[in-house]
Amino acid sequence: MLAYQHAYHAGNFADVHKHLALYALTEALMKKSSALTLVDTHAGRGDYPLDGPETRRLGEYRDGVLPLWQAQPTGNALLDGWCRQLAGHQPGETLSVYPGSPWWMARALREQDRLTLFELHPGEQRHLDAVQLPGEGRIRHMHADGLAGLETMVPVKTPRLAVLIDPSWELRDEYHTVVATLERVMRKVRHAIVLVWYPLLPQGRHHVLLEGMKSQGLRKIWRSELSRFEATDQPGLYGSGLAMINPPWQLPEQLDSAFRRLAELYGSPATHRGWWWVGE
Ligand code: SAM
Repeated sequence: MLAYQHAYHAGNFADVHKHLALYALTEALMKKSSALTLVDTHAGRGDYPLDGPETRRLGEYRDGVLPLWQAQPTGNALLDGWCRQLAGHQPGETLSVYPGSPWWMARALREQDRLTLFELHPGEQRHLDAVQLPGEGRIRHMHADGLAGLETMVPVKTPRLAVLIDPSWELRDEYHTVVATLERVMRKVRHAIVLVWYPLLPQGRHHVLLEGMKSQGLRKIWRSELSRFEATDQPGLYGSGLAMINPPWQLPEQLDSAFRRLAELYGSPATHRGWWWVGE
């Protein structure tokens, strides 16, 4: 039973962290002409009106995308470029819709590229199927389990593969399942670029994921953690984590300065830490 609905959290600081990385990653990948397969293993519903009942209820975008939107120009090229993309997606002058990962990936597609979107929740699938994405003819919508689906896709036909793994982390064994999937996928496509999002929660369950990745001897992992709030023993997300396998050249440095600027805009106690993490 899938209970999680991303609409309650759309545009929060974790979305901003993840989608900035996705934007910078796709921009870097499109500098080379060779064809690319993009995969979003947990796509969500694709588009989130900020006045929608779920998104309005928690209003998490007020601590996420809104302060960045209002701070423009930020003095950081990546943050400003991302905001320009976001502005181009709005029906009017104001910020009223927040696009999810399918849009951040689809907007970058060229003739030679392909995108596969996996979404398992029937309600979320219906929303996603109805959303108009750029480059729709090059996009496959799969109503299936994203991790198992990814495994059936590898090795891919294109020279390059980039994957976003962004589960809702609802199930206890999801951390182990992601590790096992990564192990099998990376064995078949050693050069795959994979971006895994993980929550920073007081229970610290993300260590299962990260220790698992380390024990597989995965190398060239760049980690980024944006802490938005003080870590206490109260339940709830206090920070957002990203582990990027095989990031393109200079992307970590670029992201690190954008995220440090973002944390500065958010103000204390927000902080960012980015570092290379070498497997054993
Ligand atoms: N990636 C989206 C974005 O950034 O806009 C947000 C995705 S949300 C965190 C996780 C999504 O995964 C939910 O929509 C949920 O229904 C879906 N989901 C949960 N289990 C899944 C599975 N096994 N395979 C595919 N999708 C799944």
